[in-house]
Amino acid sequence: MTEILAESFKVYGQDGGGPFVLVSDHAGQAVPPTLDGLGLSADERARHIGWDIGIDGVGRKLADALPAVLIEQVYSRLVIDCNRAPGHPTSIVTQSDGTAVPRNQSLSMQDRAWREQAILHPYHQRITQELDARLAQKRAVVVVALHSFTPVMREVARPWHVGLLHNHDSRLAHIMIDLLRAEGLVVGDNEPYALTDTSDYTIPLHGEQRALPHIEIEIRQDLIAHPEGQAEWAARLASLLPQAWRIFCTRYEQRP
Ligand SMILES: [Zn+2]
Repeated sequence: MTEILAESFKVYGQDGGGPFVLVSDHAGQAVPPTLDGLGLSADERARHIGWDIGIDGVGRKLADALPAVLIEQVYSRLVIDCNRAPGHPTSIVTQSDGTAVPRNQSLSMQDRAWREQAILHPYHQRITQELDARLAQKRAVVVVALHSFTPVMREVARPWHVGLLHNHDSRLAHIMIDLLRAEGLVVGDNEPYALTDTSDYTIPLHGEQRALPHIEIEIRQDLIAHPEGQAEWAARLASLLPQAWRIFCTRYEQRP
């Protein structure tokens, strides 16, 4: 396949001089035209299997409020999951939450390589470029990965309003968990998922491996399915993220 795609990422917002770089691996629902919607209906692709419902609105409102730069993946996670290492078993899924993905069955090496070259790598290169530019200016950088999770998975209701995922450097996650719990919220600590070296890619690559402070946050989708909820969560994070960073800098004697 030699289709030339439009850029696989969108850069939204503007650099207000703060430390936060927002990234959103699953903000998009687009499918390259030659993949015929992956053989799925638009309704199936719009389910949580296709993207992180509501996180596009939260990310953009948060970028406006901080203000900060947001780098969003444009294409559906069903085309290729940008929070998985290339070649990972769930990088290009053949089924998700009971839905088979027809155009992902028996892919050739070339098909996989094309999706990596056209979609996965340019997105991560753009994030790397953003981080490199700031580090070259000796600025503080905090990588913030934004996600949302489905409220019911395999008939089990998930109680958390929001979850923080962390692994090798849990410092900022723990501060953020305390701040969110102080708001009276039910906060998952490595729930509904735990951050690991293999099940995630974005934070291991851009946060942990570069020793940059980071946050991976998951918000329950029913809370942000509509613009009002998105605005509420964006305002909450625009207030709490700078607070968390101030606490981090004081506690760990880091230059803000
Ligand atoms: Zn996600």
